Amino acid sequence: MDTVIKKLDVENIDKEVIKEAGDVIRRGGLVAFPTETVYGLGADGMDGAAAAKIYEAKGRPSDNPLILHISDISMLDDIVTEIPQTAKLLMDKFWPGPMTLIFKKKEQVPYGTTGGLNTVAVRFPSHKVALELIREAKTPIAAPSANTSGRPSPTEASHVIEDMNGRIDMILDGGQVGIGIESTIIDVTQEVPMILRPGYITRAMVSEVIGEVALDKVVVAKSTDELGTDYAPKAPGMKYRHYAPKAELTMFEGQLSKVIDKINVLASEAKELGKSVGIIATDETKDMYKVGKIVSIGSRKDEESIARGLYGILRDFDQMNVDVIYSETFYNDDLGQAIMNRLIKAAGYRIVDVDGE
Ligand code: AMP
Ligand code: MG
Repeated sequence: MDTVIKKLDVENIDKEVIKEAGDVIRRGGLVAFPTETVYGLGADGMDGAAAAKIYEAKGRPSDNPLILHISDISMLDDIVTEIPQTAKLLMDKFWPGPMTLIFKKKEQVPYGTTGGLNTVAVRFPSHKVALELIREAKTPIAAPSANTSGRPSPTEASHVIEDMNGRIDMILDGGQVGIGIESTIIDVTQEVPMILRPGYITRAMVSEVIGEVALDKVVVAKSTDELGTDYAPKAPGMKYRHYAPKAELTMFEGQLSKVIDKINVLASEAKELGKSVGIIATDETKDMYKVGKIVSIGSRKDEESIARGLYGILRDFDQMNVDVIYSETFYNDDLGQAIMNRLIKAAGYRIVDVDGE
C-alpha cells in the first residue's frame, strides 16, 4: 500500500489534512500521528476489525491491549462503566496529558482493542494534532506506539516512516515529540490504584493527588528472576521484549567513575575482537570514553533531556550498525525510574553492577 505522508505545522494545523486523516480512521484505516509522548499508530478503537490492522502492521501479539485516545472527557461515557473518585482527581490534575487510566470497560468496546480484557486503557492527550484528529474522526482512537513490535518507540516521523512506510494509510508528521517516553499507566479499578508503567508523571506526583499508590513489581524489577515464575503481568505488554535496538545492549550501574572505567575496558576488548561498539554516555561523561561511537543521551542535570533522547539514540545505533552497546544507568526516583524501566527492557535485563565486582 502507498502511505500518504503529510507534514503539519503544529501551530497552524491544515484542516484539510486532518479531514483526510479523520476519513481514513472512520473508514477503518490506519493513521500514525504525533502525541506529546511518542508517535501513535491510530485506528477506530470501537471497530475490532480496524484495531486488528494495528496488530498486523506492528506485528504485535494480540493479547497486548491498546490505549483508547479521547479528545473530551464526555467520550468516556461510551467506553467505561464507572469513573472511580481517584480517577476523577487524577483526570482533573493530569488530563489532557501523558497519563493513561485503566477502567472497567463497557460492552461496546471490542475485545479486539482490549486484548480480550474486561478493562480498557484510556488517555486524553494534549498534543494539538492528536486532539484535532480524534475530534475529526469522532471516535476514540486506539493507538499503541507507531513502531514495529519490539523496536524503540518513534519520537519523530522519520522513525515511523522507517517502520511503517507501505504498511499503513497515512503518517502525520508533526516534528519531534516533546516528552519521548510513553504515558504513565495507572490502574484505578483497584482500591489502591497501581502504577503499571512509569512515565513522565511520577509516583510522587500521583501520590500528591490521591495519597496511597502502589507500584507493580515489574516496574522496578531488574531481572526476570525478581518477578518469580508465577508472576502474571497486569499490563500484558509488560511480558514482551520491548524497545530493543538490534545490537546487544548492556547497562552498567554503580559508582559512575567505575562504570566509565569498566565500559572503557570492555570497549577496548570488543574493538580488539573487531566489533563495532556504541556507548551511551551523558553530556557530563562523554569526553571520558576512549573508543567506540560515543553518543550523549542528554544531561544528568536534566532528566527530561534524557527521556527525549532515549529512543532516538537506540535507533541511531541501529543505523550505525554497531554490534554491542554499553550504557550508563540513570537511577532516580522520578523520571529516572521511567527511563530505566525502558532501558532495562531494551537491554533484555542485562545489567552489570560494577561495585559488586
Ligand atoms: P503501547 O501503546 O504500545 O505503549 O502499549 C500500551 C500499554 O498499555 C501496554 O503495555 C498494555 O499492556 C497496557 N494496557 C492497555 N490496556 C490495558 C488494560 N486494560 N489493562 C492493563 N494494561 C493495559
Ligand atoms: Mg509500544
